[in-house]
Amino acid sequence: MSYEPELVGGHVLLDLVNTVSWRLDPARRVDRIADPAARDVWLRAVGLPTGGDGLEEVRETAYGVLQPLAVGTEPENVEGLRELMVTAVARARIVQLSPLRWQADDAAGELALAAWRLLEGEDLSRLRQCQDDGCGWLFLDRSKNGSRRWCSSADCGNRARAKRHYARTHAR
Ligand SMILES: [Zn+2]
Repeated sequence: MSYEPELVGGHVLLDLVNTVSWRLDPARRVDRIADPAARDVWLRAVGLPTGGDGLEEVRETAYGVLQPLAVGTEPENVEGLRELMVTAVARARIVQLSPLRWQADDAAGELALAAWRLLEGEDLSRLRQCQDDGCGWLFLDRSKNGSRRWCSSADCGNRARAKRHYARTHAR
């Protein structure tokens, strides 16, 4: 079956982090973009140039900073992310002055620039980790009352509802 990326993070960098499924469950953990063909499918889905490498490094460095921010702990390796961002800017071209827009020469560079934009421009009090025990996906909760708990209500949300229903019916 071909890979169909689920873009539910609300930001391209979060969608990159979410290319690892079941991140918190070592028995089920899958890297969806380990295969180059699948990686190109993902890149096309988010509108980035295909090919090139370095995506995993951006992904894991970003995860080490963003996951702690989502759950309210101390981010890891902020220096690593800083290096990726400044390297990307150093290599980027200016494609628009006002508002300023950089363009990197490859996808990994674009994603490092996206990390900058995410940290600078988004309200990270809205950054969440899916409440499923094994999922580990991150997303920006753009709901009005800030009550989104699941990466996808059809997926993790549905499973949680089924689990609650099971627990209820079997407690009787
Ligand atoms: Zn989830």
